[in-house]
Amino acid sequence: MIRRKFLHLFRAEPGKKIRLADYPTAWDQIEGLKPLGKRVVRERAAEVLERSRRELAEMQERLYADDRYSLLIVFQAMDAAGKDGTIKHVMSGVNPQGCQVFSFKEPSAEELDHTFLWRYMKALPERGRIGIFNRSHYEDVLVVKVHPELLEAQKLPPGKRGKKFWEARYEDINAFERHLVRNGTVVLKFFLHLSKKEQKKRFLERLTRPDKHWKFSAADLAERRHWDAYMKAYEQAISATSTEWAPWYIVPADNKWATRAIVADLIVQTLKKLDLHYPEPTPEQLAALEAARRELEDEPD
Ligand code: ATP
Ligand code: MG
Repeated sequence: MIRRKFLHLFRAEPGKKIRLADYPTAWDQIEGLKPLGKRVVRERAAEVLERSRRELAEMQERLYADDRYSLLIVFQAMDAAGKDGTIKHVMSGVNPQGCQVFSFKEPSAEELDHTFLWRYMKALPERGRIGIFNRSHYEDVLVVKVHPELLEAQKLPPGKRGKKFWEARYEDINAFERHLVRNGTVVLKFFLHLSKKEQKKRFLERLTRPDKHWKFSAADLAERRHWDAYMKAYEQAISATSTEWAPWYIVPADNKWATRAIVADLIVQTLKKLDLHYPEPTPEQLAALEAARRELEDEPD
């Protein structure tokens, strides 16, 4: 386990106004790590990831057998922050039948004919399963806030689209998540915190390395021009929606190995807090098992 002290550094304290500049984007900005040196920290992170992956596979099985809870993991980030890679690496040991990943793009015409939460509601994990949102209901207070003209397509009743409008959306999101938590869905939210400098480096890599060309999209560069507006929207959204029931974690994203270890560890720690166990057979079920065992053993060879 990563020491609790470290993990605490990434949690957005509910009710507090957060400033992203106060949160590390790289491993060497994490309190106390720099003197250890990159090699040592990186090796340690690899061990944490490996162990967490094993534990996660086991806990997922228990989650499934227990069949009372589900886990919803939300990933939000700027482009090239490593959402896809983190999901791939952290979930690689988990039984694919117990895990669903949904990636949310621009809403379709059908989705725009419903309230903004509808499409996310339809994608929620069933009891016993882990659901991953690669982008999420938060896009509706992030990209949509940065580009308010997108609201026109949402065909909302008339009204001002000022501060109160966005506060109402945060309120709706908090109520939605509270409803989920009250009914057995554990909600965990990660913002992969990438520096503007590292994003530039990753974009340039996509432009210069032929094997990475396919990952580049001109739209990503267009969004980068709105960097400051996005950071402001993230700060406001995280401050308003990090709650005791569904906290945000702001995870450094400049080093992929660090991101993956931290995310994996946080997921495992969250599942460990649940009281998950395999169902105990009733006396009747035990008797039936015993009868089945006897029948098989008595079969002639
Ligand atoms: P990748 O680039 O790795 O495939 P991605 O998540 O960036 O993953 P894209 O297809 O590039 O996927 O982008 C999806 C786009 O859809 C993003 O720009 C995102 O902001 C936008 N989007 C997602 N949800 C909404 C929404 N509710 N309203 C408007 N735009 C949205
Ligand atoms: Mg993209």
